[in-house]
Amino acid sequence: MNRRIRFVDFPRQYAEERDMIMACVDEVFSSGQFIGGPKIFELEADLAAYAGSREAVALGSGTDALLLALLGIGIRPGDEVITVPNSFVASVGAIVHVGARPILVDVDDDLNIDPDAVEAAITPRTRAILPVHLTGRMCRMDVLQDIAHRHGLEIVEDGAQAFGARYQGRMAGTWGRVGAFSAHPLKNLSAAGDAGFLTTDDAELAARVRRLRSHGQVDRDTIMEFGVNARMDVLQAVILIERLKTLDTIHERRRRNAQLYRRMIRAHEVELPVCRPQEYNVFHTFIIQTDSRDALRAHLERKGIGTQIHYPTPIHLQPAASGLGYRWGALPKAERQADRILTLPIHQHLSEDDIATVADAINAFFGA
Ligand SMILES: *Cc1c(COP(=O)(O)O)cnc(C)c1O
Repeated sequence: MNRRIRFVDFPRQYAEERDMIMACVDEVFSSGQFIGGPKIFELEADLAAYAGSREAVALGSGTDALLLALLGIGIRPGDEVITVPNSFVASVGAIVHVGARPILVDVDDDLNIDPDAVEAAITPRTRAILPVHLTGRMCRMDVLQDIAHRHGLEIVEDGAQAFGARYQGRMAGTWGRVGAFSAHPLKNLSAAGDAGFLTTDDAELAARVRRLRSHGQVDRDTIMEFGVNARMDVLQAVILIERLKTLDTIHERRRRNAQLYRRMIRAHEVELPVCRPQEYNVFHTFIIQTDSRDALRAHLERKGIGTQIHYPTPIHLQPAASGLGYRWGALPKAERQADRILTLPIHQHLSEDDIATVADAINAFFGA
């Protein structure tokens, strides 16, 4: 009678939100305004207010946000941008696509960028640091900010997994010159398809990105500089306006689930995620580490428990990265973690019983 515990549960989400979604669809189709307009600006105001930033710019995806953040601050061919190999591929892809060179540095035991490795990788060509707040837990932004100040570097935060996360009480996306965020259906704040946005206190940068997202238009018939089409659909904006109202509840439920895992997983072979008092972690993912990762994953699958691996191949070992000059052994911590990490289900629709089922299965596997 094993009940399946899904890694994500879209049917449950839809059951809770059906009326709201139908009202959004009706609103957009009734208005006939599918692209641009007041709903986009309303969402941008809501996002900026939530993040505590002066500006937010709605975009087509988190990847667009990274790309336009880098373009917007003037990263050019020949520039070097320092980031990590253990992210979603877009963190590096965006750097490559503005013509810059990604410099990949190793991560700490806590899965986030190692500030010492950043400092060691700085050259005269370095223009920016792109820290990734992996799992919804922020990097050590005070240390990174200090490094950036001392070397005259920009910081572009990849907050795609971390909208609403805080470090020393201050929000993701407000530490760097700009923060890039995703509202992909799997993220904590999710749209009904691709969507993303960026946050910044720099009004000029925001204005430039608003031009770049729509072909460089300043008005219907005037093109200021050549841009791209990276606009967010109004339907996504209208849904995000509604879902933003419940985001704090989503964070609290995920944080509660994390706490339950912490209490219930007893196996000593399992390393739980690092959590420090100065952090407000929004638990986009809950990543454990163990030497018996593959066997544990198969065991959980047999028990009907869905898990994932974020991410099985570090970016510097992807075929696409062969020209970047890294080989196996170059970034040993990230490489070792790639063999040991396992992401447990932590979404907001899981009950305490569900978490207990997962924890019991893990404990049983290790005989704990
Ligand atoms: C999801 C994600 C992205 C890309 O966002 P999309 O909206 O899918 O384009 C970038 N970086 C990280 C760390 C992500 O998790």
